[in-house]
Amino acid sequence: MKVLKFGGTSVGSASRIKEVAKLITDGEQKIVVLSAMSGTTNTLVEISDYLYKKNPEGANEIINKLEAKYKQHVNELYSTPEYKQKGQELIKSHFDYIRSYTKDLFTLFEEKVVLAQGELISTAMMNYYLQECGVKSILLPALEYMRTDKNAEPDPVYIKEKLQMQLELHPGAEIYITQGYICRNAYGEIDNLQRGGSDYTASLIGAAINASEIQIWTDIDGMHNNDPRIVDKTAPVRHLHFEEAAELAYFGAKILHPTCIQPAKYANIPVRLLNTMDPTAPGTMISNDTEKGKIKAVAAKDNITAIKIKSSRMLLAHGFLRKVFEIFESYQTSIDMICTSEVGVSVSVDNTKHLNEILDDLKKYGTVTVDKDMCIVCVVGDLEWENVGFEAKALDAMRDIPVRMISFGGSNYNISFLIRECDKNKALQSLSDALFNEE
Ligand code: ASP
Ligand code: MG
Repeated sequence: MKVLKFGGTSVGSASRIKEVAKLITDGEQKIVVLSAMSGTTNTLVEISDYLYKKNPEGANEIINKLEAKYKQHVNELYSTPEYKQKGQELIKSHFDYIRSYTKDLFTLFEEKVVLAQGELISTAMMNYYLQECGVKSILLPALEYMRTDKNAEPDPVYIKEKLQMQLELHPGAEIYITQGYICRNAYGEIDNLQRGGSDYTASLIGAAINASEIQIWTDIDGMHNNDPRIVDKTAPVRHLHFEEAAELAYFGAKILHPTCIQPAKYANIPVRLLNTMDPTAPGTMISNDTEKGKIKAVAAKDNITAIKIKSSRMLLAHGFLRKVFEIFESYQTSIDMICTSEVGVSVSVDNTKHLNEILDDLKKYGTVTVDKDMCIVCVVGDLEWENVGFEAKALDAMRDIPVRMISFGGSNYNISFLIRECDKNKALQSLSDALFNEE
């Protein structure tokens, strides 16, 4: 069985929902994971923000506006009086429920419940629409099987067992519709898999049922070899290794959430990125296969800070790196890139919440220098060290750009450069010309 995930824009209006319904009704049994309609989760975050600030009027104003929008979606989506009524009742019940949270104490726990409503509504709307069209569609309640453990990590054993039970309740269904993003935590409370987490849901489901394929449908034509907003002459990449896709997803390619890669890779289930606007286009296939001798794509991540710690004490000393890393760990700050020399180490971070404390602590061990407004440019492809020529090509493209750090050899699939953010566009264009558009 395949798992298909459709993001917020793919279900962002009544007509988009109808398009998706057409796409998924081909007679094959499948699980369909949906995000909330586009903009909804952001609006629910905004509502929560007003409630945290104890401003129920502010919250109510936004709730009413959002409800009015949904009433209109329902009116456009269904054609029979029966389903128009079912749809309106659905909207009313969810919005009355959200409104009930404007009256009492509002904490993290209540926020999670409010945030869950977007996916609960979109899936119920799609399910009714399919049923109105005569399709055998069933809702799989994610809150019954999607669960995280005490470390807030998904619990694959629980998910597999409970999902199987849910599927067995309706063996004859053609389409199982389920919510992305939402789950319960180890204490049974409503929670979520973090923003953008619907891709993760799809991948976890795929692994749990040993799906033949996981499809991530968006409104973009697969992953591109460079950022089409910045560089001219980009092209979709037709095939990526999981590790290449992971690097790209993490370093800037917005099309796929990075958490989605690991469960699929581990279960060896191919992930296909497809375009709802152009459903017959081949998209991008992500699997455990490597295409030999090819550089695939370039991505960039902004807002990076570089920190250099130089110490003569590092010379011939052991334990220096451990001390440095422990400081970052104690402030829950993860490091993206590292470069070392015999007298110092440079690291890059994207989370600067505790930067000042970190810098203070680092100063005990050496002279500290900070460079802000930096950017990581990541080149992925078959960069196995024994190949020759590929690193040189990437380096040559960066010839005219001041490079702060270079990282190579951390995996077989990438080489990363840390440069100034203001040099990013030039670097991306130059890499694109050198690697993909050679005459
Ligand atoms: N609706 C959630 C969000 O906007 C999850 C998702 O779309 O993947 O973050
Ligand atoms: Mg998304």
